Amino acid sequence: MFANDYFTKEELSCRCCGKIHFSDGTLHRLIGVRERFNEPMVISSGYRCPAHCAKIGSTMTHTTEQAVDVSVAGGRAYELLGIAIEEVFTDIGVKQKGAQKGRFPHLDDLEPIPGERIRPTVWSY
Ligand SMILES: [Zn+2]
Repeated sequence: MFANDYFTKEELSCRCCGKIHFSDGTLHRLIGVRERFNEPMVISSGYRCPAHCAKIGSTMTHTTEQAVDVSVAGGRAYELLGIAIEEVFTDIGVKQKGAQKGRFPHLDDLEPIPGERIRPTVWSY
């Protein structure tokens, strides 16, 4: 599953406990984005266990195995988001304020969830 040229198991694992659950389909889609982006894409957050999500007040989408945050800013973020939309990541969360190291757009490819926001969509945090 993690035999790929671009992303390590560590960067896709929960930062608090090291657990990892990651969808093969989402990983495949992420690799597709990376190949088109053609430059290293650092994942600032991949899988998060429910306890970690609760602790940091994050969206629970990171518990689904289908969400990542990518460290990228400015013009490269513009490029990355264009590719992610074309590769059918259906949920784009934009975080682009403050220090460069704190800028990490959220991408996930979840199906629409009844009662939750309609997808595809863009939001900010
Ligand atoms: Zn954890």
